Amino acid sequence: METIRTLSCKLVVPPPVAARIDATLEAFAQACNFVADWGNEHKKHRQYDLHKGCYRDIRERFGLSANLAVRAIARVAPRLANAKTRHSRFKPTSIDYDARIFKLDVSSETVSLRLIEGRCILALALGDFQRERLAGQSPTSATLKKGRKNRYYLDVQVKEEAPPTQDADDTLGVDLGIRHIATDSAGHQFQGQDLADYRQHRANVRARLQAKADTGSKQTRKACRRTLKRLSGRERRHQKRINHEISKQLVAYAKKHGLAIVFEVLKGIRDRCRFHKEQRRALHSWAFYQLQQFVEYKAESAGVRVLHVDPRYTSKTCADCLHVGVRRQDDFSCKNCGQRSHADFNAARSIARFGLAVIRGEYSLLSCALPSGGRVGG
Ligand SMILES: [Zn+2]
Repeated sequence: METIRTLSCKLVVPPPVAARIDATLEAFAQACNFVADWGNEHKKHRQYDLHKGCYRDIRERFGLSANLAVRAIARVAPRLANAKTRHSRFKPTSIDYDARIFKLDVSSETVSLRLIEGRCILALALGDFQRERLAGQSPTSATLKKGRKNRYYLDVQVKEEAPPTQDADDTLGVDLGIRHIATDSAGHQFQGQDLADYRQHRANVRARLQAKADTGSKQTRKACRRTLKRLSGRERRHQKRINHEISKQLVAYAKKHGLAIVFEVLKGIRDRCRFHKEQRRALHSWAFYQLQQFVEYKAESAGVRVLHVDPRYTSKTCADCLHVGVRRQDDFSCKNCGQRSHADFNAARSIARFGLAVIRGEYSLLSCALPSGGRVGG
């Protein structure tokens, strides 16, 4: 199956070109805002109508080339169609490119981009990862982005042929939690107390700053709000790096051992009472969603199957005998068969077992053999 993947490539930008890129970013954003205003005023959101109404104006006012003007309109159209984003403003941080206005030359590792006042050719700072994925490609769309510290990136869309999904006759269950962000049924635990401590530390810093931001002088309040914003970005990036690393390891393990990866469906994870109040504050469910997403796309490239099972019983069910056991903080114990283990590990094994029932289509795997045991949904 063919998939489209985004490859982020750093650009080598000499200062004079940086000024030109910035001017183009600014013009592109202003053009987008102009089109958005026009669309809202005239209650139009189809690309065709926006083009008819704005194309000439945005070319003249903002000095955009024909195709950049087309890209600006194309970017605004879906935003106007959505009531939530209809009135959002565009910032000068990115520009969309299509095959007519950018050309990436893989052999010389350069890209030609259309800017205000003509084209310019820039070198790409590629690593082996990007080189490998760009080989033999002739990408037709990309996004130029300005990142932090005035760094410029080109997010290039490349086509990738994903290998067929390998047959799995066993599963790797993954439990997501606070103290250990992930625990798998093979016994690996990822990012334990370190991350929890880090988050707690961050939460404390945030709380202190927030207090200042609420009560300080006007100057202090402003400075605190700025710092808070910066911190939230740092935390997100920290978590993202961790999630990339964990997902890489999970997928590599599953591939090596011919396993399918099984997660719980995440819906409503915040409402579950597995977490103490203290921990819940530190919990950002987006981190779990992100981890699942990373696993899913890495698994797809590796031909590893991923499935999701109902989370209702996993943390309470004994992975050995499927009876409902007792979970006390980190300990799980089963009164029926006497099994005792780390609660996250037991949950991961239950998840693996439910997933196994799904891939084998053998739902009898979920029934307890003893007359006193009830059936557990999977
Ligand atoms: Zn048991």
